[in-house]
Amino acid sequence: MWRPEPLDKIQKWSNSISRAIRDYLEISENLKLAHFKLAYFIETYEEKSALEKTHLNDLWEQHQKYYSFSRKIYDQKKAAPDPDTFKSYYQKINASNTPRRSLLDLKLEIAEKISESCYLCEKRCGVNRKSQLFDKSGYCNCKKPVIASEFLHIGEEAPLVPSHTIFFTGCTLHCVFCQNWNTSQRINAGIHLSQKKLASIIDARRKQGALNVNFVGGEPTPHLPFILRTMSHCKENLPVIWNSNFYMSEESMWLLQGFVDLYLSDFKFGNDECASRLCAAENYGDVVRRNHIMAKESGNLIIRHLVLPGHVECCTKPILSWIAKQLGQDTVVNIMGQYHPDYYAHQYHEISRFPFPSEIEEAVLWAKKMGLKNLI
Ligand code: SF4
Repeated sequence: MWRPEPLDKIQKWSNSISRAIRDYLEISENLKLAHFKLAYFIETYEEKSALEKTHLNDLWEQHQKYYSFSRKIYDQKKAAPDPDTFKSYYQKINASNTPRRSLLDLKLEIAEKISESCYLCEKRCGVNRKSQLFDKSGYCNCKKPVIASEFLHIGEEAPLVPSHTIFFTGCTLHCVFCQNWNTSQRINAGIHLSQKKLASIIDARRKQGALNVNFVGGEPTPHLPFILRTMSHCKENLPVIWNSNFYMSEESMWLLQGFVDLYLSDFKFGNDECASRLCAAENYGDVVRRNHIMAKESGNLIIRHLVLPGHVECCTKPILSWIAKQLGQDTVVNIMGQYHPDYYAHQYHEISRFPFPSEIEEAVLWAKKMGLKNLI
């Protein structure tokens, strides 16, 4: 059976990148509790019925209070504790009685209320996705979560591999060049699993050597309530990766804070005109920039940027400049050169070809010029 590399071995490939994602690495190594585990152990309410009757504003107030509390505990553990101390701490809380209502339950309750007039992402469709009738779908077309595939992925960034990657169908953006259109735009291309079943698979994959669980799509955002409930059934401690287009609503970002350990974002466009033309996203820049700032505040972050042909000046350079200036030069950035024209890309002249090697080189040179030092 494959086993994860020990932490000191992972550190050897880049001390600088390891420092930037240290919490993630420590959770992978079971030296630190994952955010979702901590949220699971923090008790908030005495009775579920009381929680169900509470107005959404009150729930948010409670959420803010208990999230701040969980931050304090998490930050106390920021410097790596020695493994023996951590193990006894972990065993102690594992042996304790399960709280009746946890911060994780509170997050789930809020997420479900949001999905009743859905604004999980910034499309803010307002449809009731909890309704059994489902007479009206939102922009993503997502109804009951459909899983296209799940497996130990060895093609992700080195510190994430092997990654237990769970691909949901459906997406909150419809990029004309989508590289995963066969699942992102075909919402029935997979199977339904119960949350308990998926949780048992996640636990089994962890035992097989998965360093993390990696929620992706399509896009995981429409399935946030399902994912929260799934993780509430997980027994193992492992980092949660949110692998996303980052078009989540601000409310979803609040719920992800204190749940996600490593954000793996897909930062595509450097201006709203390109975003509007190529994926019909409104206000893309403000939304995605805001979400990156919130992600950086609350977890580790790796930003992916796929270099689009003909978009180095208008998209790649502004994105890299903004990251260096606003998120810091130590931000981990993966500049990806594997774009290929797919889906409807042939209808858009400039992206109907592969990027030139000179465009990828220019992107990397610009990143270095901006002082970004943790490039993958
Ligand atoms: S998740 Fe889907 S239904 Fe909900 S707001 Fe976004 S696109 Fe609309």
